[in-house]
Amino acid sequence: MGGGKKPDIKLISDDGLRHDGRRLDEIRPVRMRVGVLNNADGSALVEFGRTRVIAAVYGPKEPVQKFALLPDKATLRVRYHMAPFSTEERKSPAPSRREIELTKVIREALEPVILVEEYPRTVIDVFIEVLQADGGTRTAGVTAASLALADAGIPMKGLVGGVAIGKVEGHLVVDVDELEDMYGEADMPVAAAPDLGLVTLLQLNGVLSREEFSKALDLALTAIRTIVDLERKALKESYVSSE
Ligand code: ADP
Repeated sequence: MGGGKKPDIKLISDDGLRHDGRRLDEIRPVRMRVGVLNNADGSALVEFGRTRVIAAVYGPKEPVQKFALLPDKATLRVRYHMAPFSTEERKSPAPSRREIELTKVIREALEPVILVEEYPRTVIDVFIEVLQADGGTRTAGVTAASLALADAGIPMKGLVGGVAIGKVEGHLVVDVDELEDMYGEADMPVAAAPDLGLVTLLQLNGVLSREEFSKALDLALTAIRTIVDLERKALKESYVSSE
C-alpha cells in the first residue's frame, strides 16, 4: 500500500525482533485446510497470521459459452476478490483496478504448473476470496489456489507457494504484514514452484540494491520451500498448522 506517516513505534526492536515478536526471517503462523467447501471440486483455506484466504476450484469442465475455448489446452480463469468485510474500512464489493491486476498476476503464477494440455476445450475456474486482509493476500491467494487445484485432482507439475519479502527500517524481513507493508521501504511478493525451479510471480514496490534484491529472492525461495512442504502435508492430512 505504501505512504502515510509512520506511527511512533519501532517496527524492528534493538534486539532484532519485529513488532509482532517474529525474527526477521520468520513467517507468520500458517494454517492450511483442504476440502473446506462441499460445492466446489476443490477448495482450501489458508491463513498467514491474520491474513485469511479461501480458494475454490471448478473443473476442468465444458462451459456454457463455448466460443472462448482453446483447441489445444484448458483455459484457466481466475478471480481474486476481497470480501467487503476483509479490511478495516469496508471495501466496495465491485472489482477494483487492484483486484483486476492481482487476478492477472495470480493466473500467470499458477498456469505454468498446471497440465492444461491434458484438457483441451475445457475451463478451470479458480475463485480466490480474501476473508481477512493483513498483508500478503496475493501470495496467500496463490498458495490457497495451488492447494485447491490439487484438491480438485487437477494434474500439476508441482505445487506453488508464495510469500512477500519486505525491507523495514533497513532490514529484509520475510512474510510482511500490513503494518510492515504500509511503513516499510520495499515490498517484494514472490511465488514459486520449488520442485520445478520456477519463479512464477515477482513484483517489487520500492527500492532495493542489487545485493538486497538477491538476498530477498533467496529468503523468499527458502520460505516458499517451507510453505510448499506444509501444502504437501495439508494435502495428506487435510489440516496443518505450523505452530
Ligand atoms: P497484498 O495483500 O498482496 O500484500 P497490497 O500490497 O496491495 O497486496 O496490500 C497490502 C495490504 O493492504 C493488504 O493485504 C490489505 O491488508 C491492505 N489493503 C489492500 N487493499 C486494501 C483496500 N482496498 N482497503 C483496505 N486495505 C487494503
